Amino acid sequence: MALPEEELLRIDDMATLERVVKGCTRCRLRAGCRGVVFGDGNPRARVMLIGEGPGADEDRLGRPFVGRAGQLLDRILAACGFERQRHVYIANIVKCRPPGNRTPTPDERAACLPNLRAQMRLVNPVIVVLLGSTALQALIDPAARITRARGRWIEKDGVWYMPTYHPAALLRNPSLKREAWHDFKLVIDKYRELVDPDHYSPHHPPTAMREAAPAAEAASRAEPGTGAMPAPGQGLAGTPEPGAGPGGL
Ligand code: SF4
Repeated sequence: MALPEEELLRIDDMATLERVVKGCTRCRLRAGCRGVVFGDGNPRARVMLIGEGPGADEDRLGRPFVGRAGQLLDRILAACGFERQRHVYIANIVKCRPPGNRTPTPDERAACLPNLRAQMRLVNPVIVVLLGSTALQALIDPAARITRARGRWIEKDGVWYMPTYHPAALLRNPSLKREAWHDFKLVIDKYRELVDPDHYSPHHPPTAMREAAPAAEAASRAEPGTGAMPAPGQGLAGTPEPGAGPGGL
């Protein structure tokens, strides 16, 4: 059973919406999966991350982004200073696992979009990170390409969308991690601009701190023994040079 979109959009709490969507049979994907994978994180977060669809681990455990790609996403979030259950809400374009992890078809995406739109209405994020081309095409432009769109903000109806690579693409091609980290640093900057100017990221300090660090280093060189100095090759203690991805991602 599936409610029409106008009824989904009238639901005003996430627990009720989850219960309703878990009964959805609007497309063929429901017949081939264990269950609907609804979402995860803080329903009041100001940042929403949207991926493609559940894989085998997500289907088994009933939560989005819990396999290898999800573990990588958690490491990226940690580098940003974001906690999954506090700073973000995570969902997918389709909520049932496509067979063999194939890309969901346009009609499957269209069938599931009312569920996602109802989630987005309740979360009401100011920043949405689009993880991969399926999310980009479903929410912004069916003809868009992630390789061209990534790393540039798209403002739509007062919401700031940042397209970037899906973590599964980063696992397949680790050379893309540098670009993905560039995109997530823009997300951190936007979060400081729109949500919390004091947001702490262990790998991307605020601009003022980044600018102050070389000056402090120079002053310390002039007066040996003053101030805590970053190790050679690092911007701030434990922080890679700007442009480099955090180690261990
Ligand atoms: S993928 Fe979405 S539309 Fe299709 S059955 Fe699952 S919840 Fe419903």
